[in-house]
Amino acid sequence: MFDLIVIGAGSGGVRAARIAAGFGAKVAIVEERFFGGTCVNVGCVPKKLFSYGASFGDLFRLAEDYGYALHSQPAFSWDTLRDNKTREIERLNGVYQRMLEGAGVQIFSGRGVITAADKVRVGEQIIQGRHILIATGGKPFVPDIPGGEHILISDDLFSLPALPKRVAVIGGGYIACEFASILNGLGCQVHQIYRGDLFLRGFDQEVREFVAGQVAHRGVELHFSTDVRSITANDRAKQLHLEDGSVLEVDAVFYATGRVPYVDGLFEGISPALGVNGALQVDETFRTSVPGVYAVGDVIDRVQLTPVALAEGMWLARHLFAPQQAGAAPEYDFIPTAVFCHPNIGTVGLSQELALEKHGTIRVYCSEFRGMKYSLGEVQHRSLMKLIVDDVTDEVIGLHVVGDDAGEIVQGFAVAIRSGATKADFDRTIGIHPTAAEELVTMRQGKVVQ
Ligand code: NDP
Repeated sequence: MFDLIVIGAGSGGVRAARIAAGFGAKVAIVEERFFGGTCVNVGCVPKKLFSYGASFGDLFRLAEDYGYALHSQPAFSWDTLRDNKTREIERLNGVYQRMLEGAGVQIFSGRGVITAADKVRVGEQIIQGRHILIATGGKPFVPDIPGGEHILISDDLFSLPALPKRVAVIGGGYIACEFASILNGLGCQVHQIYRGDLFLRGFDQEVREFVAGQVAHRGVELHFSTDVRSITANDRAKQLHLEDGSVLEVDAVFYATGRVPYVDGLFEGISPALGVNGALQVDETFRTSVPGVYAVGDVIDRVQLTPVALAEGMWLARHLFAPQQAGAAPEYDFIPTAVFCHPNIGTVGLSQELALEKHGTIRVYCSEFRGMKYSLGEVQHRSLMKLIVDDVTDEVIGLHVVGDDAGEIVQGFAVAIRSGATKADFDRTIGIHPTAAEELVTMRQGKVVQ
């Protein structure tokens, strides 16, 4: 009898298993595919490596402005990047596996099926646990359209045999924007197609507009307010038949139209309550409607971000096995996040639109500029920095950065904002000169919006 059986060795599952084992619990983990889950294998980690890879074109151009003579055009090998990435991911798989083994977690390879509140079947074997944690994550969602068999999803992109010349990226969220930039940076001709009038719905409107301009300036062809009706193909190319009547010819069609909770075939004889989108419903302690069965991470679809799954998994392990150390359950406001499109976006707190809705009168500070790094030559990359302040309390309730290393910049500011920093606190803080980030503590001209 285990104290905890975790299904899914992704971010949330591994963290919960390791922490629980550290408290002396007897823990099993069941995994059918790979250690580290989506993030490590077909998500954050390989994506970031590709994103680095895609930024070298800019660096080569800049190098010349800084006096370097490149005697021949740098040649890019997709095979090298892909295979080096794969080697690194395999190394990380090993790290995750050894971390679990080192913590004393028993690993079961195969698909876990929950047959009762305390039983999991893996292949022929039935294992029993006092608690079961579902951390099976999500899977890509692709709308059903004629010609759907020609569609690639994010999982496919990480192992493409060859880089296509012309690509259509469908969607306007994190993955679509990141991959449109990556493919563009690696030299593909990229069309990004989004059904709404401006991508990155939910982000600050000014940020969205600015990013659209910068992304287009770097070469991504943006097609907004249209969608793909159907796809046909011949041996030369794929044809996208768009809602606006036009036909776009490309070599590959890549859909990034959201991810949905992965619960397929997970239950036999029990049925925990699911929400409308198939997400497991949990209470404030991550308990499903079946006593003893818990769920964290993308499968509960609160916030689909690795660090959120980690926080949930860690808190649950403490709650179950060291309640005196658990503290308050994870909070979901002021979660900093980054989109690794080019330019990067880093953001924490509210957009201007949401801030207005929630806070009434706000002050907005915004600055747009060409960073010093780009001042010597022809590369015209620009940055945007924006602060949203509650006009009554003076608290900074939103901070947005578009530009190099936006995520790195925002992480630190997120601590300040989480701690209730006011605009006066920002003003009191001395800038680090010369940096782009100093802009965030030197903006003085606010605009009152109500
Ligand atoms: P998102 O939810 O971010 O975006 C989905 C996009 O697809 C939206 O633009 C949506 O449009 C569009 N869409 C949805 N359904 C359809 C449809 N039927 N037809 C056409 N378009 C459609 O999902 P992603 O797949 O990009 O990413 C999944 C999650 O993974 C993200 O929410 C994020 O939390 C996480 N992630 C985080 C990353 C990071 O931290 N850097 C990187 C990658 C992923 P509309 O806006 O109109 O609904």
